Amino acid sequence: MKCPSGKRAYPTKERAEEVLIETKIKFRYPLETGPVNVYECQDCGDYHLTSQGEVSEVLKSDKIKKEIEREREARHWERKRW
Ligand SMILES: [Zn+2]
Repeated sequence: MKCPSGKRAYPTKERAEEVLIETKIKFRYPLETGPVNVYECQDCGDYHLTSQGEVSEVLKSDKIKKEIEREREARHWERKRW
């Protein structure tokens, strides 16, 4: 089912959070800009990313922050090899 919002939908909160983290790694947004959280959509019942409101608890977690840093570093070096 396609969502009237036109946003990409994810079936679970966990999946949406994974994508949120992945987005931070890929696009190198500061944690407070770009997509910052996930929400359950009233229209389609799935989850979307949002750039508005509170920063997700997931992104505030030290463990995840470290993981994002580590992944960014790793990919930085991968790119340099090309
Ligand atoms: Zn929706």
